Amino acid sequence: MTARRGLSVTLCEKGRVAAEQSSRNWGWVRQQGRHPAELPVMVEARRLWQGLARETGEDLGLAETGVTFLARTEAELARLETWLPHARAHGVDSRMVSAAELAALLPGAGRHWLGGLHTASDMRAEPWRAVPALARAAAREGVTIREHCAVRLLDIATGVNLPQLSVRATVGATEAMPEALPGAAIEMADGFAVRRRQDGGYTLAPGLLHELYVGPDAFRHFRKYIPQMRGGHGGTKLRALVPRGYPDGWTTPRRWAADRPSPFEAMRVLNPAPNMAALDGVATRFAEVFPDLGRPRWAKCWAGMIDVMPDELPVIDEAPEVPGLVIATGLSGHGFGIGPGVGRVVADFLLGGQMGHDLLPFRLSRFTDGSPISMGESL
Ligand SMILES: Cc1cc2nc3c(=O)[nH]c(=O)nc-3n(C[C@H](O)[C@H](O)[C@H](O)COP(=O)(O)OP(=O)(O)OC[C@H]3O[C@@H](n4cnc5c(N)ncnc54)[C@H](O)[C@@H]3O)c2cc1C
Repeated sequence: MTARRGLSVTLCEKGRVAAEQSSRNWGWVRQQGRHPAELPVMVEARRLWQGLARETGEDLGLAETGVTFLARTEAELARLETWLPHARAHGVDSRMVSAAELAALLPGAGRHWLGGLHTASDMRAEPWRAVPALARAAAREGVTIREHCAVRLLDIATGVNLPQLSVRATVGATEAMPEALPGAAIEMADGFAVRRRQDGGYTLAPGLLHELYVGPDAFRHFRKYIPQMRGGHGGTKLRALVPRGYPDGWTTPRRWAADRPSPFEAMRVLNPAPNMAALDGVATRFAEVFPDLGRPRWAKCWAGMIDVMPDELPVIDEAPEVPGLVIATGLSGHGFGIGPGVGRVVADFLLGGQMGHDLLPFRLSRFTDGSPISMGESL
């Protein structure tokens, strides 16, 4: 969008475009359950996705097939219901659905749940198709994309303190199987997550499992993450041994000279091994939920490192001591869907245009100005 408005744009990628999170995600383009601060940007992003699918002329795998959160208990249902006022405030079509309606939305599943929350206008896209297609479209519009080009240093006198960590998330794609649901769904209780894929398989994940390799930054930022560990979305497991070369590794250099290779060149593509034990549990749950389909066979399994912030909200801000340096990071596991919205906002930030949304919740100083760190009202 910045290039469209006549500015020269260069994207430096240390490895390949869409080789890290942007191709490894579940492919959910979801408004449902979002933090209220993010929801207006996400509503815009959904509209932008539809425009991009038309403009690129390429198949992004975009389909408006809905997202459903599934509840087994009254307490889970009550929690889902608390989100409805946010949907209404922003014109999102989310609604509570009964057990009978769920049986129609997930015809292959029978009646496993008391009810749920459903947003018919939520979408899915195929990350590995969509992101390279969007990069090609950007290049056609004049963006220079340099792959295998690591940014070693920013030529600035002061540093930027960002309390960001990264957690491993595991995913599996099944071989093609009959359709048991057209869209995406997640069980509130144990985070079993399923999305129908364009290739006829399913993307499955243990949605609550996030593995944190405990390195120096984890210690440094520990206090800021206490609210997330207490009241957040749970499921974070601590792992003592940080694999070599990972962002928060004990032996990963923190400082280096501009004329020497940096850790970004040592790790061109971060490709964590998936947690196969967790995927085994996911396959078992799939077979319980969809008995007619049975236990799935994996076509591919992988993991990705999610960049996470203490309140699971991104930072979209100008670095206070470095005018002109705009930071957009920490999308905290839901940046694929909202990406086009964040891109548009950042373009206007850079060009002095109308951002159109309240960006105060995304300011960098929220972690240092004494504001309480809270998990908000996302589901
Ligand atoms: C398993 C998993 C499931 C997810 N599911 C969803 C989902 O269903 N829906 C959703 O909305 N979001 C989801 N997400 C989150 C989403 O994928 C991310 O928020 C989003 O892709 C972040 O985009 P990004 O461009 O900020 O980061 P990335 O896609 O990680 O891209 C950052 C790039 O910067 C490059 N880079 C890093 N340092 C340097 C340097 N010094 N020089 C040059 N290049 C550098 C890296 O190589 C990388 O390619 C998921 C993430 C994961 C891992």
